[in-house]
Amino acid sequence: MAKAILQKKISQRVANGHPWIFSNEIFKIDGDVNPGDIIEVVTADNKFVGKGYINPKSQITIRLLTRDKNEIIDEAFIFNRIQSAWEYRKKIGYTENCRLIFGEADFLPALIIDKFNDYFVLQTLSYGMEVWKQAIVNALQAIFKPKGIYERNDVPVRELEGLEQKKGWLTAPSDTTIVIEENGLKFFVDIENGQKTGYFLDQQDNRRAIRHIVKGADVLGVFTYTGTFEIHAAHYGAKSVLGLDISENAVSQASKNAALNGYSNICRFEAVNAFDALKQWGKDGRQFDVVMLDPPAFTKNREHIDKAVTGYKEINLRGIKLVKPGGFLVTSSCTNLVSPDLFLNTVYAAAKDARRRLRQVTFKTQSSDHPIIWGMENTNYLKFLIVQVL
Ligand code: SAH
Repeated sequence: MAKAILQKKISQRVANGHPWIFSNEIFKIDGDVNPGDIIEVVTADNKFVGKGYINPKSQITIRLLTRDKNEIIDEAFIFNRIQSAWEYRKKIGYTENCRLIFGEADFLPALIIDKFNDYFVLQTLSYGMEVWKQAIVNALQAIFKPKGIYERNDVPVRELEGLEQKKGWLTAPSDTTIVIEENGLKFFVDIENGQKTGYFLDQQDNRRAIRHIVKGADVLGVFTYTGTFEIHAAHYGAKSVLGLDISENAVSQASKNAALNGYSNICRFEAVNAFDALKQWGKDGRQFDVVMLDPPAFTKNREHIDKAVTGYKEINLRGIKLVKPGGFLVTSSCTNLVSPDLFLNTVYAAAKDARRRLRQVTFKTQSSDHPIIWGMENTNYLKFLIVQVL
């Protein structure tokens, strides 16, 4: 096995257990390596750090898989990691739908697997993980006997690893629209053409958090996608629900989901640009009891955090203006680039501009099937805030 020797000054990140090793952190590599090979990593004074896979083409040159010198990286290793991730999910209360593997947080860097009852959607986002795809499929088959396993590898980051983008069944082809149940409601999931893996499981716990505040309320849901929050609002007793999304396709999916649950009479969806619509409605003096915002990341890039903050401030300002005095704002941010503090300060700044006071109901993060590993900032990414707007 080839060996990577780190620079003399080892970064705090690696010392604290983070699995990523960047190219500039490596002093030299002893032995020949091909992308995807397993390599041993040692400090400058030859102390064992871990074993992981290497891709000389990638900025993140090595991703560690184990810190145990005696652990062998083979098919059984992959099986055990997936099995233990499943045991953890069951222990904390997930049975039907969950993010089964959340990459680094499950010690399988660059692997994402979402479980939608009997179906699994996976993403292998690095060369070193792509190598183990068949082993992953074998493990899922052995543990779950699934109805189907689908790959959603149509993501640009794969190109940074020298991998092509692709999607399709890894098991016998079947229908790509499936139905899942969440909190007693049913949702269509389009695993072929939906966003990311088809459904945002990371808000599944948070959707329950709106249960009391929406009772009897006129609710506006912005960035609705397939209507999940909005249909929950109807289910929890909202008087009327209006959902907005810029995508016609999302709006049509959301309408189908409302019908599937018998809430077509309460939920209505419109395809509009939320920034324009909210601005206009603010001028018109339209008001809602509850306004929910779940915008996209606004940036994927550290250099453009300012742009993201401007986006969050603007949409929250426009949202707050539409909340009746004493009503509620439900607001989220799904990028780890904007820290929890920065997000709260941004919402606070928006409220000050709107001359409204906020009383905090709850502040949460992503659902627990997306574990946060302390010391790995990028595993802590979602912010979910409910405030009363006075
Ligand atoms: N609330 C959803 C997830 C929302 S994802 C859920 O829980 O499943 C973000 C959504 O914002 C996407 O569906 C995207 O189409 C939509 N979007 C992006 N920019 C928008 C804009 N300017 N106006 C309205 N919707 C927008």
